[in-house]
Amino acid sequence: MPRVVVIGAGVVGAAVADELTGRGWTDVTVIDQGPLPMTGGSSSHAPGLVFQANSSRMMTELARYTVEKLCSLDDEGEPCFLPVGGLEIATSVERLLDLHRRAGWLASHGIESSVLGPEQCVRLHPLLDAAEVLGGLFTPTDGLARSVRAVAAQIRRAQQRGAIVLAGREVLDVLTEDGRVVGVRTDGGELPADVVVCCAGIWGQKVAAMVGLNLPLTPLEHQLVRTGSVPALAGQETEAVRPILRHQGADLYYRDDYDQMMIGSYDHRPIPVDVHDIARHGAGPTMPSVRPFTPDDFASGWKESQSILPALRHAEVADGFNGIFSFTTDGAPLIGEHREVAGFWVAEAVWVTHSAGVGRAVAECLVDGHPSVDLHEAELYRFEPHQIGPAYVLERDCQSFVEVYDLLHPLQPMDSPRPLRLPPFHDRQHALGAYFLEASGWERPQWYESNAPLLAAYDRAGTPIARFGEWASRYTSPIAGAEALATRERVAMYDMTALKRIEVMGRGATAFLQHLVTGNIDRSVGSVTYCLLLDERGRIRSDVTVARLGPERYQVGANGNLDLEYLRARAPSDVFVHDITPGTCCIGLWGPAARDVITSVSHDDFSNKGFGYFRAIEAHVAMVPVTAMRLSYVGELGWEIYTSADLGTKLWDTLWAAGQEHRVLAGGRAAFSSMRLEKGYRSFGADMTWDHNPYEAGLGFAVRLAKDDFVGKDRLEQLDPEAVERRLVCLTSTDPQAVVMGNEPVFVGAEAVGYVTSAAWGHTVGRAIAYAWVPTHLATPGTDVEIGYFGARLPYVVTTEPLFDPAMTRLRG
Ligand SMILES: Cc1cc2nc3c(=O)[nH]c(=O)nc-3n(C[C@H](O)[C@H](O)[C@H](O)COP(=O)(O)OP(=O)(O)OC[C@H]3O[C@@H](n4cnc5c(N)ncnc54)[C@H](O)[C@@H]3O)c2cc1C
Repeated sequence: MPRVVVIGAGVVGAAVADELTGRGWTDVTVIDQGPLPMTGGSSSHAPGLVFQANSSRMMTELARYTVEKLCSLDDEGEPCFLPVGGLEIATSVERLLDLHRRAGWLASHGIESSVLGPEQCVRLHPLLDAAEVLGGLFTPTDGLARSVRAVAAQIRRAQQRGAIVLAGREVLDVLTEDGRVVGVRTDGGELPADVVVCCAGIWGQKVAAMVGLNLPLTPLEHQLVRTGSVPALAGQETEAVRPILRHQGADLYYRDDYDQMMIGSYDHRPIPVDVHDIARHGAGPTMPSVRPFTPDDFASGWKESQSILPALRHAEVADGFNGIFSFTTDGAPLIGEHREVAGFWVAEAVWVTHSAGVGRAVAECLVDGHPSVDLHEAELYRFEPHQIGPAYVLERDCQSFVEVYDLLHPLQPMDSPRPLRLPPFHDRQHALGAYFLEASGWERPQWYESNAPLLAAYDRAGTPIARFGEWASRYTSPIAGAEALATRERVAMYDMTALKRIEVMGRGATAFLQHLVTGNIDRSVGSVTYCLLLDERGRIRSDVTVARLGPERYQVGANGNLDLEYLRARAPSDVFVHDITPGTCCIGLWGPAARDVITSVSHDDFSNKGFGYFRAIEAHVAMVPVTAMRLSYVGELGWEIYTSADLGTKLWDTLWAAGQEHRVLAGGRAAFSSMRLEKGYRSFGADMTWDHNPYEAGLGFAVRLAKDDFVGKDRLEQLDPEAVERRLVCLTSTDPQAVVMGNEPVFVGAEAVGYVTSAAWGHTVGRAIAYAWVPTHLATPGTDVEIGYFGARLPYVVTTEPLFDPAMTRLRG
């Protein structure tokens, strides 16, 4: 049995120890520099509010499990969770609408909630001023995690199963040999270990640095205030009776605590803390994770609190402090194993809310080799290189603090730092009036204002205005519809630079890739294969296009850094895996006139016979050397044309000039997304994730079971493709007002049966399209369902896919 050392006995370390020992890994030693169970870390003073609603399904599931688990635990007869319910209130119309969206996320996860009017909110929380509140979202299973008790209960249970706990012992170093952990050195001696799990909270960077790992997180101060006795609560003899309360519009949250109120505030400037400035244990009168209260930062929060909860006008701020906990650039935890030091795991930047879920996931990774929850959003190595630099991390983490309760549109780009990554043709796009959004730091046009005149020609265009007002309709323009229609009739240039490109080469490249992917890539040079990367359970890790450019040289079109890491981690010494994205760029030249354009500027054979569908060649476009691949996510004739960054502008100018005769246009991402859905092309991360197998996702065609062994094949062979329990289906509606955003629940009657993954208006097919997961018995075309959208129910029908050009005449023509 592996010897495990868990560094940190906060809620996360305690959960990891409990979950590991519960799975039979009982040789676990938990080490904490502080005393137990109040170690002095963030868990020692967190008020423990657990709200489960989250736009991320992963975060909701981590929270749901935390609630379930803590509800089942007690600490010497005292519950670890107080199921008082959670009330998120709205004081603006925008927020009120958003509460419905949040209720939808919960419904699709099977978590009960309801949107209430002001009077009902006040009935649940009588301290609220009904005149200030427009409504609230009540989630009965939300509540208060008593984090110190949760630590105590989980640590005790782990001890009962054999774990050893060393309190008051600091880990000074993590010992390694030949690229793996062998133990830890503490101020009380050395301990051998096969696995070390870093659950060191705000000290995480310090511990990770012991093994040369840079953790992209920032500890930040966050204010927590306790009022004196509130007359309206006088006589309350129970710890908490009212639902926990969130006033996200003002960055505030509340819980009652006997006759006092506790108020948490994000309504202040970000106050980052350097890990080296965190006090040592016992060095001062307070815990190391507690900083002096800065009253000025609470002034507006207190005013707002007295407005929303008038009873507080008769109370004082009794005390407060600035507590420290960790933020990440995208708000998700950091979970995973060090790529260079085997056996060193991290579980960092985790809220109490998600702690037991994360503990379970880490234990599953260690014991079973994989988590039961799709963790790709929390993977340690999800970041691009520029996203782990100290300046970026500090700026974005401070922004994460500012945005923690903000109403973020799914398409909303980061405000800053921008611009960061520019394709070489950025100036050209700018000159065409591109409206830029951002993807992995790349500036990417969403549509082009210069295409506005197309609206007159394409009167079917005009993206229908989303029903629920300005907010939902942001980041879109009717111009995108015209761009989509014009692409299908003429030819357009799409910026595909943000697509991750990985070069795989070396003597063993073919065998290496062949073993990892579901398709047969050992075909002729020039072949392009769409296939999947699976895990050992046969679930989808990613989808990739593998272009064979030489006998042992491939270009892999992938989904992001996780794919790069996955390939790198597995590459044998005779295979080189190289991220060529930053040094290259890509234009998708698509539309019926694409061949006319390209042949006018290239001597290479771009004929249908000479350059078939899903083939690649290295060619020249005028004087620009390119790699051209005949494939298209928009379902039109054309090519992805790659070149080096230095020649990107020349490529753009060459194609643009040649295209004039054919009325070429530049197309943006909004048009692209709409056309992608018309063709039914899946997008990893939205439509399918690590939770799904190929058959459920409608990607069985990408699997070659006849091929020799590949990762996941064993499991797939045990599956009956026809006997899956859920399916990704295409839903459509002819109502131009029925376009949804993604993540909405799908209903049949009162029951939430699934959720939407991607959605758009299909400009060519004239229908609203929503891809969604539903149980197989509801996947038959013609089945009526409803999508819950901002509280309304929109009728949709399961529809045969693809909606556009099922015979593929466009692509193959
Ligand atoms: C004021 C405040 C309010 C909050 N409110 C909420 C809330 O309402 N809901 C919510 O979900 N979250 C809340 N949070 C966030 C939450 O408290 C933290 O995210 C969570 O407690 C982190 O748990 P952890 O186990 O990772 O870290 P910690 O609890 O900090 O535990 C880390 C442990 O590692 C130990 N350690 C570190 N380095 C070493 C070493 N070298 N050797 C030995 N031991 C070491 C430390 O002593 C510490 O005990 C709040 C945070 C603050 C500050």
